[in-house]
Amino acid sequence: MTGARYGRVVGDFDDLLAANTEYAAHFDLGGFDGIAHAGVAVVTCMDSRIDPLRMLGLSHGDAKIFRNPGARVTPQALEALVLGAHLLNVQRILVVPHTRCAMTATTEQELRERIGESAGQDPSWHFFSVVDDQLKALEDDVQKVRAHPLIPESVLVGGFIYDVDTGLLDQKF
Ligand SMILES: [Zn+2]
Repeated sequence: MTGARYGRVVGDFDDLLAANTEYAAHFDLGGFDGIAHAGVAVVTCMDSRIDPLRMLGLSHGDAKIFRNPGARVTPQALEALVLGAHLLNVQRILVVPHTRCAMTATTEQELRERIGESAGQDPSWHFFSVVDDQLKALEDDVQKVRAHPLIPESVLVGGFIYDVDTGLLDQKF
């Protein structure tokens, strides 16, 4: 794969754009609104083993999905949840970290060393949100949502661990 670091290079995304053309040829969801039709929001990890809609039996248009490394309730996640709860029909929120998450399997120092080797430069200025204790982090994150002054009390908040090997969700909080 060639390509300049900066600027648009024709060709780099051809395979994906071809797939998109195919997708658009059968697209019948135009004019759809952006609310969460099933009333669901999910905060989960960026991990490619997680299919947040399908694992909950949901489909296009049903849910608001916010993803980051480790499924953490960050300020931006809270921003998404407040918007969801007030403007986008969100009535239930699931916080869903998962088994075998890379963010739980390493220290920030180890991560910086690995990224430093890959990048060929010192990444110590960069923050990486590793998780020491996944259950404790989940409990704190769920609490953070429940206690948020702009999340209505009527909104239900649950904390779950998703097992990437069985596909099962296990509710912890
Ligand atoms: Zn993960």
